[in-house]
Amino acid sequence: MNWQDKINGLNKSAEDMTAEQIIRLCVKEFGGRLAVASGLSEEDQVIVNMIAKVSADIEVFTIDTGRLFQETLGLLAKNQKRYPLTFKVYYPDNEALEDMVRNHGINLFYESVANRRLCCGVRIVEPLKRALKDTDAWICGLRRAQSLTRKSLEIFELDEANEKIKISPLARWELKDVRRYIRKNKVDVNPLRKKGFLSIGCACCTRAVKKGEEIRAGRWWWEENKNKESGMHYSA
Ligand code: SF4
Repeated sequence: MNWQDKINGLNKSAEDMTAEQIIRLCVKEFGGRLAVASGLSEEDQVIVNMIAKVSADIEVFTIDTGRLFQETLGLLAKNQKRYPLTFKVYYPDNEALEDMVRNHGINLFYESVANRRLCCGVRIVEPLKRALKDTDAWICGLRRAQSLTRKSLEIFELDEANEKIKISPLARWELKDVRRYIRKNKVDVNPLRKKGFLSIGCACCTRAVKKGEEIRAGRWWWEENKNKESGMHYSA
């Protein structure tokens, strides 16, 4: 069976499943070759809460780009205290980072889209490849309703860049479903949410969202392209 047949079969099985049932299916299917990527978003916090109910053996990893908000790192520290899970943190490669900053400056991302992609490549995409090295599949908190780039998201997809299966158990959820779960399960969230930060990445590349703007409008706000991604999920 090829990867696409497997993915089609998993999507069929997941059709009528809840997010928690999908996570159980993933644990059964991939066992120790499964990991969870957490950027500490509200959705990621929901996933971590569900994982803790299902299996303590699944590693949760975060990529610390070196430019995250203190509030985001504070939330990671809370998770480490609250859940009996392994939280692994990956950092950018030292040499690549030093070269980039020496050659392009510390705030290169404001200067051009190419520079911004270079920075996301060094600080996010390369560490992600290392984080996924010993896995067959990874879970993340993407939802279809988050942006245009995500509207045709399937629960199980082929992550072509990393040659893994990427799983989005919350693909069908709306923001109200996320918030309902958070309230019901007393899930911790980033305190920046109350200040209008609806999608939170690096501090230098995220601003609060204004009334009426879409959820991800505060990411790389100076770029004109509306469909922006870091390269973690789609090529930016
Ligand atoms: S979000 Fe900004 S600081 Fe973070 S990796 Fe991308 S360009 Fe660099």
